[in-house]
Amino acid sequence: MTAPTKPRTSTVTCPNCGKRNRVPAAADSIPKCGNCHQPLPWIVDAGDDDFAEVAEQSPVPVLVDMWATWCGPCRMVSPALERIATDRRGRLKLVKVDVDSSPRLSQRFEVRAVPTLMVLRDGDVLARQPGAAPEPALRNWLDQALQSEETQSDH
Ligand SMILES: [Zn+2]
Repeated sequence: MTAPTKPRTSTVTCPNCGKRNRVPAAADSIPKCGNCHQPLPWIVDAGDDDFAEVAEQSPVPVLVDMWATWCGPCRMVSPALERIATDRRGRLKLVKVDVDSSPRLSQRFEVRAVPTLMVLRDGDVLARQPGAAPEPALRNWLDQALQSEETQSDH
């Protein structure tokens, strides 16, 4: 049983000054270091019950990693995604979803391969990538997804 919507936090080390910070899974603005006030990497877990709050209501674009504990390629892709999210802290949130404990999300996004990666903005899927890919390819894929979205929202 999960407790009724209690704010969850995770702990990250500030890449700028090294101080450990608590980061909320869901917030209206990007988390910043309490010591040096630089944006912190925003890397959190979500599941069926809190995906809307954590991913769809995020103030910055979200990279979703649908993974599984038994999936070998996931163990290679996840650290790459964490590096990307750390490089783009303040501009990107990484949300990890364990498909085995999130059957509703797996069904909704029709996940047939793990990892399945998605770029979300305001709950809209901008791009999806079934299966693993090398880190440079993932960076390109992410850039293209966010670029096309920026062009579309240009007035
Ligand atoms: Zn800091």
